[in-house]
Amino acid sequence: MESRRKSESTNENGKVYLVGAGPGDLGLVTLRAKECIERANAIVYDHLTNPEILSWARDDAEIIYAGKEAGQHSLSQQEINALLIEKARAGKDVVRLKGGDPFVFGRGAEEARAIVDAGIEFEIVSGITSAIAGPAYAGIPMTHRAENSHITFFTGHEDPAKTESTIDYAALAKLGGTQVMLMGVKRLGSIAREMLEQGVRNDLPVALVRWATTGRQETLTGTLQNIAQRAVASGFEAPAVAVFGEVVALRETLNWYENRPLSGKRIVVTRTRKQASALSNKLRTLGAHVVELPTIRIEPPGDLRGFAQLVQDAHVYDWIVFTSANGVEAFFDVFFKLYDDAREIGGARIAAIGPATAQRVKDFHLHVDLQPEEFVAEAVVKEFQKQGGIENLRILLVRGENARDVLPKELSGLGAIVDKAFAYRTVPETRDPTGAGRQLTKEGADLITFTSSSTVENFLALGLPWPKGMQVASIGPITSKTARDHGLNIDIEARRHDIDGLVEAIGDFFAAGNARKQS
Ligand code: SAH
Repeated sequence: MESRRKSESTNENGKVYLVGAGPGDLGLVTLRAKECIERANAIVYDHLTNPEILSWARDDAEIIYAGKEAGQHSLSQQEINALLIEKARAGKDVVRLKGGDPFVFGRGAEEARAIVDAGIEFEIVSGITSAIAGPAYAGIPMTHRAENSHITFFTGHEDPAKTESTIDYAALAKLGGTQVMLMGVKRLGSIAREMLEQGVRNDLPVALVRWATTGRQETLTGTLQNIAQRAVASGFEAPAVAVFGEVVALRETLNWYENRPLSGKRIVVTRTRKQASALSNKLRTLGAHVVELPTIRIEPPGDLRGFAQLVQDAHVYDWIVFTSANGVEAFFDVFFKLYDDAREIGGARIAAIGPATAQRVKDFHLHVDLQPEEFVAEAVVKEFQKQGGIENLRILLVRGENARDVLPKELSGLGAIVDKAFAYRTVPETRDPTGAGRQLTKEGADLITFTSSSTVENFLALGLPWPKGMQVASIGPITSKTARDHGLNIDIEARRHDIDGLVEAIGDFFAAGNARKQS
């Protein structure tokens, strides 16, 4: 673990970073933003920030939701300013996360001003604004040589204290080009009317893109004449960017994002926060909206000293058997604290069960001598027999505390001398800093994925209501059995019992149109 970092700034105050969180897709967050989040002592975010970004935060970072969602309790702008200052004065480095770019229509300027007035250091980290990424993800280029040579950004929702709109619709109408409006979906009717009155042609193409760059992106197209009415008819709600201009028509051929195999599907990932990203990213790449709801967390074993002793003596064994990637990680974590030379592992040969486990061993530049594909005791035993048997050989079995006892029994049955090294403990994840539980309850999901028995058990232990129509995908027969024992129905079971296998099975399932209809 890295040691607790001191504030970066020169005086005792912390520093405030006004950071653009991008439009939603985590891949569109800048490297500097990620760095700031990883180091922050306090993070203040609002509802347009993808909450999954918070998984990059330190465990001890203070995370504060500042809201700004219509109708929900949230801090006022003044309270937010005061909060940023208070945290910085307490010596904390504060990241103020703002959707898109911090200086595009998000009151970032006011926050920066308040911070300066308080004599606190600050930094701006630009982000990709929804005004640009929104249209792009809807397949609408902002410019096209043949169509336009300028772009206008405007807001449909001005400071309520202003008595008259300062938007010059006559000028906008005259200017033409591509015009992008942020906020103001609700006022679309009157805005379109103003434009028409100023002589903009009524068949000008218009698109609305909501929740752009996320798995719940939706686009509605129409003309200046009918877009407001279409939005009302389809219940199209904020947050959305509106694009006015000829370039909207290009979407017909360039719509790339909404046509992916899992577009529009909401899928729950229940793995530990650390492990979730591999699965989540693959599902997102296929277009799914992923809800990361970690149900378990990996902690050091109860008897860390005992484990360390076995790791220290690893070289006396003929075989070291790893049954999970977590075990590999915990083992080498301790190993390299004890030794600074990988050769200290001696002549021990290495067995890894399952491809992900083997990969983790290879990451440490060690050869895997034996790799049964399946985590079924019989398969493992058969592989060992192929290698000439294990009678009288010493085996160190590296595993989790709550693992089943089948494997050590089978190996002992073949005459091996087996020592069990408990490398980690799986505990229920009770924290939910991203509000995923709330999101699941409120908005439901199409599918939940289980990657181990403990994810099943701990998900059910959370006691969340089962969303209507939510189907179940399991990584393999052991996980499926646990789920069935708890009364769940398995809709998908991976044929290859790893993350790629699971993703493939999910893709096939939806391609074959097997999804249960939401009623
Ligand atoms: N600073 C932000 C804008 C803040 S104003 C940025 O640069 O993107 C809030 C408005 O931004 C919303 O009302 C909506 O118009 C737009 N917006 C932000 N994120 C969005 C998203 N993912 N999809 C569509 N519109 C979004």
